[in-house]
Amino acid sequence: MDSEENPFENLQEQIDDAASFLPADVNADVITRLKHPERVLEANLTVDMDDGSLETFTAYRSQFNGDRGPYKGGVRYHPGVSRDEVKALSGWMVYKCAVVDIPYGGAKGGIVVDPSEYSADELERLTRSFAEELRPLVGEDRDIPAPDVNTGQREMNWIKNTYETLEHTTEPGVVTGKAIENGGSEGRVEATGRSVMLAARELFDHLGTDVEGATVAVQGFGNAGSVAATLIDDLGATVVAVSDSSGGIHDPDGLDPEAVKGFKNETGTVSDYEGSENITNEELLTLDVDLLVPAALENAVDGDLAADVQADAVVEAANGPLTPDADDVLQERGVTVVPDILANAGGVTVSYFEWVQNRQRFYWSEDRVNDELETVIVDAFDDLVEAKETLDLPSFRIAAYVVAIRRVVDAYTGNGNWP
Ligand code: NAD
Repeated sequence: MDSEENPFENLQEQIDDAASFLPADVNADVITRLKHPERVLEANLTVDMDDGSLETFTAYRSQFNGDRGPYKGGVRYHPGVSRDEVKALSGWMVYKCAVVDIPYGGAKGGIVVDPSEYSADELERLTRSFAEELRPLVGEDRDIPAPDVNTGQREMNWIKNTYETLEHTTEPGVVTGKAIENGGSEGRVEATGRSVMLAARELFDHLGTDVEGATVAVQGFGNAGSVAATLIDDLGATVVAVSDSSGGIHDPDGLDPEAVKGFKNETGTVSDYEGSENITNEELLTLDVDLLVPAALENAVDGDLAADVQADAVVEAANGPLTPDADDVLQERGVTVVPDILANAGGVTVSYFEWVQNRQRFYWSEDRVNDELETVIVDAFDDLVEAKETLDLPSFRIAAYVVAIRRVVDAYTGNGNWP
């Protein structure tokens, strides 16, 4: 991995960039604290395979910072998971929770595995084995896992059940992103895509441009990307291209995201969707559109590719989709970027609502969830606009980190240092 692709180094660079805009009363030693996780669990999980053999998987949980509340963050199953990736993702969770001002710290977990190569029974044993390793670290007041890439309600239900069985308790708030019947929240599945839509809507409004008729390309048509595409289309924009790991499709007259979702459910990919032209992911990222939504994985756009990006604005649905070099290039070229830590914060915000509902054993309607989410994202967007304008900051990303770091520093300073 070259350094531009190391997400942990990218996170640290983002913090350093923002720290130079913080007022002088913020101590540099405290910033050093905010650039490293408090602890990282590395576990090797040996799991029975269906054919009687054993396989060992490496798993991580990074608890980055708990100054503002319990650690919070997803669990990713992917062959590319690494210690540095998990550390970076856990740090982004800290700043994401702070930027939308919900009372959590940040964490992230992952297992180095391609889940498509294993049966549901094997994945259940793997997940329960990981949950057992996590047991001393997690709990509704300690650390609360959630879904991320290649995990969902099923895995969250398994983690919850393992924890509750071993602890002889009921504690649905130990994980979020559960199925509704298991204590999940209405609106959680759509929450990340919904906040991406809200961020895009607020951005268009801020820039004084009309979202109706705006052209949009979405890279990554999974949970976050497909919901974002549908909801942005509902605003009246035209989604002209979407993609997944096998490639993309383009229709200048506009795709119907719901129909593409149905096609992908049937065939496993968006490619060859009727009436569209197959394109590569690189072609999608460089289409001449009003809005680009990267919703796949980190480092989708590097400095070289950024020079060819023709979109006027980027709303980051994925975590860390632009390398710092790409960010610099886009900023120099006047492309407005709404950063991941605001745009995709809908997932963790509705996870927070789920946790509140679990603790109160009192469940909300979907309308209430969506209304409360809208308030959180619009308020956070307004906070960034205010910080950017009053402090004369060069980008929304810097503004997001300045606002978030300030909140974490204030919590840390108020708590004091132990021992
Ligand atoms: P997902 O697994 O549902 O979807 C990922 C999609 O990206 C899939 O369609 C996959 O085929 C595609 N993809 C993978 N590699 C690609 C590539 N190189 N080019 C194009 N497409 C590619 O995952 P998700 O939950 O939608 O997460 C996507 C991103 O959003 C991740 O960065 C994740 O951390 C972030 N995110 C997700 C949530 C959430 O609640 N789901 C919350 C916050 C952030």
